[in-house]
Amino acid sequence: MEFYLCPIASGSSGNCTYLHADEQRLLIDVGVSGKRVTEGLTEIDIDPTTLKGILITHEHSDHIKGVGIISRKYDLPIYATKPTWERMESAQMLGKVKEHNQRIISKDEPIYFGELMVTPYSIYHDSVDPVGYVFEYMGKKMVLATDMGKVDRKIVERFYNADGILLEFNHDVNMVEVGSYPFPLKQRILGDYGHLNNELAAKVLAHIYHPDLKWAILGHLSNENNLPDLAYLSAKNALLEKQIEIGKDLQVTVANRYNLTPIHRV
Ligand SMILES: [Zn+2]
Ligand SMILES: [Zn+2]
Repeated sequence: MEFYLCPIASGSSGNCTYLHADEQRLLIDVGVSGKRVTEGLTEIDIDPTTLKGILITHEHSDHIKGVGIISRKYDLPIYATKPTWERMESAQMLGKVKEHNQRIISKDEPIYFGELMVTPYSIYHDSVDPVGYVFEYMGKKMVLATDMGKVDRKIVERFYNADGILLEFNHDVNMVEVGSYPFPLKQRILGDYGHLNNELAAKVLAHIYHPDLKWAILGHLSNENNLPDLAYLSAKNALLEKQIEIGKDLQVTVANRYNLTPIHRV
């Protein structure tokens, strides 16, 4: 059994994650060029023609700019909620997508790819109908959780019992405050419908930790308002407060912005 995640790109400049559950192979978002996706998959010896589909979290361009291209190239179905589809179509964000590749999903309603169960869940973000995803396969669970202005109890409960999590560590609050962004943009990032900051994400991670949680990938880092070391240190400190030691109790990796992050198996 092989069940793993592999971020192909992660950050405000573009997001794309590869999910592998034996024969069931999916991309979550394609916010990078088609070329980058093909190259990334080749690096880990995955033939793009074996993909089964593309899951969309939300319609921001750092998540969908390559979706249309990849769908057309490999004839792949695209899964998104109805409001997200409507927005992508009315704004012509994907180019032409064949009708048989337009698939509608609903929050909290699992979809199945063979034995792989995928559950979209609701998150807080300034797009029409954003979702995160829970992946369950052969008794193992992985979670994708990015683009979240805040988390509530219902969301955090999704993370319980995960064997691996890709969690947003978007920004350092101080860097946003003293940074050069115009005030409205600062407000957006820091608001409840923006992005998760290091400190809060670290708290969430320490809170959901259990001995079977094997790894956490810190993802979707801001280019302007974060540093990989800051994200890592936030996680390290929050975990240490609960006597959880990185390397011993949990593997923590900061996702690469432009390049492949190593495969993370559960
Ligand atoms: Zn977004
Ligand atoms: Zn994003």
